[in-house]
Amino acid sequence: MPLFHNFSVKLPDSTTILKVIFIIKDMLCTPLIMTTEKEKLIEEIIELKKQKNAIILAHNYQRPEMYKVADFIGDSLELSKQAAKTDADIILFCGVQFMAETAKILSPKKRVLLPNLEAGCSLADMATVEKLAEVKKQHPNAAVVSYVNTSAEIKAMTDICCTSMNALKIINSIPNKEIIFLPDINLGKYIASKTDKKIILWDGYCSVHDQLTPEMLLEMKNDIKGSKVIAHPECKPEILELADHICGTGGMAKFAKQDDGNDFIIVTECDMVNKLRQDVPEKNFFSFCNICNFMKSTTLELAKESLLEIKHEIEIPEETLKKARKSLDRMLEF
Ligand code: SF4
Repeated sequence: MPLFHNFSVKLPDSTTILKVIFIIKDMLCTPLIMTTEKEKLIEEIIELKKQKNAIILAHNYQRPEMYKVADFIGDSLELSKQAAKTDADIILFCGVQFMAETAKILSPKKRVLLPNLEAGCSLADMATVEKLAEVKKQHPNAAVVSYVNTSAEIKAMTDICCTSMNALKIINSIPNKEIIFLPDINLGKYIASKTDKKIILWDGYCSVHDQLTPEMLLEMKNDIKGSKVIAHPECKPEILELADHICGTGGMAKFAKQDDGNDFIIVTECDMVNKLRQDVPEKNFFSFCNICNFMKSTTLELAKESLLEIKHEIEIPEETLKKARKSLDRMLEF
């Protein structure tokens, strides 16, 4: 009788191993570690929501535990539209400053809270009132189109706002030949490549998207054979050239669902993959560890404190709010 039997174990191929490694890396980026303390906080926040007649909106890029208390998860505009529809008295916006302001502009009678008032946005901060006044003076015949990632003051100086999804359609609908587009230079360049209008670019960028390089993307594409790339238009043109599809966070799930591919490299903030795995569980999503620290500065503790004490309420001067509302209302027609 032989001492050893011949046997063989079929090992997974290298692409499968790499996929598992990438998924583990993603999970370690902002891990969801549920402790008894966190579970208690989640229960308390959900109870506070009921007591205060509040809703919680969470942006796609929030920490995974924030998803557990949210009534809606989405991009900034989807969330603000939800906010305008609800009959809640209070909106707790788990996102960044300009998003909470947008919710306030669209729902002026509601109390809008931002758990952490320090949650800014490097892109929105690159558009200042003084600079816009100067650029408008230099181009008196140009219309001003601002991305929603801007402050209420900038929106009040804007003819029409836009998102990455409707920017091109909006720009093409404007009679002016010249458009001042702010604040994202990468999105501006992308639009300029698709329209006959003269786009006056703004020297602003999102620090999270702008740091990604084509080399990183090519390396991952090579590791995950046959994968498709969905890139956010705030990325550099060199990245967008390599993408199979370019869209904001609101359009990513739709593309992945409809496309015949199974593996998608998502080029944006890394926690977007959590939402995509939730919405399209039958497909695989991979990303770079690319964190927006502004988004991650919101925690369960701060959310509870804000709701309990009605702390960090967004206030916008009436005149600014009225003017900003016009530029957002015009956008919502598209
Ligand atoms: S990802 Fe970029 S644009 Fe979005 S909030 Fe963070 S810094 Fe701002």
